[in-house]
Amino acid sequence: METDMQSSKQTIDAAKIRRDFPVLNQQVHGKPLVYFDNGATTQKPIAVIKALTRYYENDNANVHRGIHQLSERATNGFETARKKVAAFIGAKSERQIIFTRGTTESINLVAAAWGRKFVSEGDEIILTEMEHHSNLIPWQLLAQEKGAVLKYLSITEEGTLDFTGFESILSNRTKLIAVTHMSNVFGTINPIKKIIRLAHDRGIPVLLDAAQSVPHLPIDVEHLDCDFLAFSGHKMLAPTGIGVLYAKRSRLENMDPYQGGGEMISSVWHDKSTWNEIPHKFEAGTPHIAGAIGLGAAIDYLNTLGMENITHYEQELTTFALDKMMRIPNMKIYGNAPERGGAISFNIGNVHPHDLSHFLDQQGIAVRAGHHCAQLIMRKFDIAATTRASFYFYNTFEEIDYFVEQLTEAQRFFDY
Ligand code: PMP
Repeated sequence: METDMQSSKQTIDAAKIRRDFPVLNQQVHGKPLVYFDNGATTQKPIAVIKALTRYYENDNANVHRGIHQLSERATNGFETARKKVAAFIGAKSERQIIFTRGTTESINLVAAAWGRKFVSEGDEIILTEMEHHSNLIPWQLLAQEKGAVLKYLSITEEGTLDFTGFESILSNRTKLIAVTHMSNVFGTINPIKKIIRLAHDRGIPVLLDAAQSVPHLPIDVEHLDCDFLAFSGHKMLAPTGIGVLYAKRSRLENMDPYQGGGEMISSVWHDKSTWNEIPHKFEAGTPHIAGAIGLGAAIDYLNTLGMENITHYEQELTTFALDKMMRIPNMKIYGNAPERGGAISFNIGNVHPHDLSHFLDQQGIAVRAGHHCAQLIMRKFDIAATTRASFYFYNTFEEIDYFVEQLTEAQRFFDY
């Protein structure tokens, strides 16, 4: 264990990496900031901040329409970012990459543009009880509009998906399986290859909510063979307001537009229009140009570190944290999947997560408390909320030591 830790400490040198993230170098309530809220959003390296400044200082213009230098540069920056995204997730073509505001918008796009066209009354959509509300509500809205039926894979005490009876809930009315790749509450990495294979055997498409996986794991959409994949830039070093929908080309070609407006048309008459080619058909209006360029810079940064190194380092951090946290009396950790990422949800004694996170904030530690937009999980475990610590590659073993120390202090403070 020690040798393993040493080796990945050499490939991911968190102490050195932290110099690239100015925000991490500050005190909160007089204590050095320990940022453990990466599941909600990640911090931005200088390279990303500079890419945004450089764009606004030198190249700012609208994309695609202008025949002038600045517009050409802006278009080039925007479209280069699309190519970087495609390469990063192993997509065959950059045309399969649609820029959106984030995971939420990407899933809403599929529910509206694909769902309205292909889902009818009595059709079934399979979800899981582990989903973030982003991958529930769009399907509820669609089901209500169409009279479709939502079916759920349940979760086990371990915070994994319960596959008992999975094949029997698939029917010839099943139109889609929409599932999270990695849980934002338990950290569970779901066996999506198996789900996709079983679904495809029956001709059912699969949508992956990859908000928590793309930032932390190497992803290859061709290898996974998923039909749709949604993720957010801000959870992987990029600005807020930029995200991605990847889809198989034939799916995109067959879908109707999501929103109408500039850029997404080919020809317009008084009463009808024809559509631009993909991906532009799904990108109505002026996009978040700087955001896309920032996402491209974030991908460059992640590639320099290497996604496999990132995964490996985060797994060591997580194992280290779990091992120490489990020794704290009255500690309840939710989720114990064999394959997991670095999001740890827990409660200690009967301390309310809001009180605990307030206490930790006073010690400079940022964690999240609440239902984590996953109320079906909270209902299942009969709790209102948890506290969640979630890591990224710039976190350190020393920060975890300090965090565990403060959890022990909290025990004394709240006297439970
Ligand atoms: N799905 C999961 C699993 C998430 O963790 C999140 C963000 N917490 C989302 C979807 C939604 O992402 P966004 O708010 O960036 O659209």
